[in-house]
Amino acid sequence: MSLIPKSHPRAKSLLIREKLVEGFDNGLVAKEGLLAQGRGEAFDYLLGEKTGKAAKSAIKAAAAQILLAKLPVISVNGNVAALCPKEIVKLAKLTGAKVEVNLFYSNQKRKNNIVKTIKKNGFSEVLGTNSASKTTLKGIDSARRIVDKNGIFAADVVVVPLEDGDRTLALRKAGKKIITFDLNPLSRTSQTAHITIVDNVTRGMDLLIKECKKLSKKNKKSLEKILENFDNRKNLSENINEIKNNLTKRLRIA
Ligand code: ATP
Ligand code: MG
Repeated sequence: MSLIPKSHPRAKSLLIREKLVEGFDNGLVAKEGLLAQGRGEAFDYLLGEKTGKAAKSAIKAAAAQILLAKLPVISVNGNVAALCPKEIVKLAKLTGAKVEVNLFYSNQKRKNNIVKTIKKNGFSEVLGTNSASKTTLKGIDSARRIVDKNGIFAADVVVVPLEDGDRTLALRKAGKKIITFDLNPLSRTSQTAHITIVDNVTRGMDLLIKECKKLSKKNKKSLEKILENFDNRKNLSENINEIKNNLTKRLRIA
């Protein structure tokens, strides 16, 4: 039971923190994951803690990209498993995507805990812990390059929420289309991915599911059109503008 009163002005943000701390206590989240959340929170504050126009248009492009994929894979780390396991399962079931556990700070026990969490939420075939199907990606250091040959290695589209810049670049160099969630429009991950959703994963993942549902009724051509009209660089600068406008508004109130 949470002790945070609903009336607290930062209630939503504090509830997300609670989930992360709980995830840490349950062996899902790394210490470093708690700090990564802090970096995200700061950017969320600057964005006004809401899903902006630019994020919505990135979500639409991401949905089109996932629906057009032959083999989409959702990469799950500790923070994602702690924050939105239900949504990951929903998205995977809806789009036929595979789910693979992939950790920046590799640790077998934590991996197993994450797999258990995803399974508990209704998805039985989680990749990333079977040593028989391990293979390696080029261009990054040892532990982090290990992926499943039937999952990320074979994927054409990879969804990597809250990812690190080096791995994003390695995945991109391996020819994957990369979709990420990252609250910091300036991070290397944001700048390297093909589609960056600058939004809190706790808000954006649900919106992505809704968009996939909506766009699943469209034909291939109209999905391709959505992608043609999307430019990640432009979208990132729109996000930076949204931060700027939000700050200017706050300046006027002060
Ligand atoms: P990069 O390696 O891409 O340059 P970084 O080293 O600055 O990024 P990391 O700590 O590697 O940052 O990754 C965490 C990233 O995830 C941060 O950019 C942070 O803004 C983002 N992040 C953290 N929590 C959330 C969240 N709940 N929703 C969306 N993004 C988040
Ligand atoms: Mg990093």
